[in-house]
Amino acid sequence: MQIIRSVKDLEAVLQQYEEINFVPTMGNLHAGHLSLVSEAKKYDGITLVSIFINPLQFAPNEDLDIYPRTEKQDLKELEKINCDVVFCPEPNFAEGVKKLHANSDLSKKLCGISRPHFFHGVISILNHFFQLIKPKNVFFGLKDYQQYLIVKDFLTQSTLKTSIHGIPIVREPDGLAMSSRNNLLTPDQRLIASKLSVILKDTALQAKIKNLEHLRVEGIKKLEELNFKVDYFSFCNSSTLEEIDDFEENTLLAIAVNLGGVRLIDNYLIQ
Ligand code: AMP
Repeated sequence: MQIIRSVKDLEAVLQQYEEINFVPTMGNLHAGHLSLVSEAKKYDGITLVSIFINPLQFAPNEDLDIYPRTEKQDLKELEKINCDVVFCPEPNFAEGVKKLHANSDLSKKLCGISRPHFFHGVISILNHFFQLIKPKNVFFGLKDYQQYLIVKDFLTQSTLKTSIHGIPIVREPDGLAMSSRNNLLTPDQRLIASKLSVILKDTALQAKIKNLEHLRVEGIKKLEELNFKVDYFSFCNSSTLEEIDDFEENTLLAIAVNLGGVRLIDNYLIQ
């Protein structure tokens, strides 16, 4: 496995390969990330994983400083699953990046309401990566469903010939969606956190037969009783993220909460 830190070295490596399957990450890798890499490995060409904590997607009051950094362990995990190339750019990689705007319809909803800067930061850094790498395929987790839709929209609008693949959410045995931020939870918070996926699933399974607003109010109440601060609890159209009042095919239930200062998101596609 090749480990690359400079753009110059990356360019030299890229010259040797035609088809790049790219998995962007912020490190602190878990089985969710590794499932993206395993999927990427099914395609012809090489698998390239980036590890870069993107400062452009964090507001000054957010958790950039405490975001878990575990590069040594991450590289071991990637080596084990035969990743071909890992790109770990220097912190100044984000300097001078062209600032782009994510699709405004999609980026103003859900996470975009409390984190208005977030998707613009994501798209700006991804564009920087994509222009350098020109990947044939890119792989994104459906855990960050809104991000997946926004990147998909960005690629559709761009001249890049890159296909995007959305990969199912990988969960802990108790149902909690795997996330690097789970490592910031205390053991007590970690126990409570598993209830998020239970409430999500229970609510989603009733969506076809019960009033959505009633389910929403009940769901928020259950979460608040467990000390979650609810950012959003939204039944929405899974393509437009537009809030819906009545169940329709492919409704997405998306939830974001804060537990003791740690932001957790999860979603369920109700088909
Ligand atoms: P991050 O390192 O959090 O930026 O995530 C990098 C990629 O891994 C993104 O495409 C995420 O959606 C994906 N990812 C993170 N957690 C999971 C998970 N539990 N299941 C599937 N994909 C995930």
